[in-house]
Amino acid sequence: MNIALIAHDKKKPEMVEFTTAYSFLLGQHQLYATGTTGLKVMEATGLKVHRFQSGPLGGDQQIGAMIASNQMDMVVFLRDPLTAQPHEPDVNALLRLSDVYRIPLATNLASAELLMHALKRGEMHWRELIHQQQEDN
Ligand code: PGA
Repeated sequence: MNIALIAHDKKKPEMVEFTTAYSFLLGQHQLYATGTTGLKVMEATGLKVHRFQSGPLGGDQQIGAMIASNQMDMVVFLRDPLTAQPHEPDVNALLRLSDVYRIPLATNLASAELLMHALKRGEMHWRELIHQQQEDN
């Protein structure tokens, strides 16, 4: 599975704790992240992460492009709802595209944990069927 990790600045410590706690599981998948989030996750966990640009410099849009081509299977986006973000339009676009393509999306830690449990139980298998269908077309 291709999994995107994004955390706004005040949520980065939470993202580090989350990825540390689930590093064994996450390590079995392909990880993508916005620039600074990816760096922090790699430093803390040693996980291999493909890093895009920093969020405010277009990283959210790069992840959005993967969603738009149906290549992203899950998005964990720890948003900070209490701080204005300079790249709010990009954030909204990413959330919107996740809904357009019905990509499982967690915007807080509690939902992110549920997604990890679903992943562990093999409940994301339907995404592989979608990839297969794409290849067949
Ligand atoms: P960052 O971007 O990981 O580069 O900080 C996240 C964001 O603010 O969208």
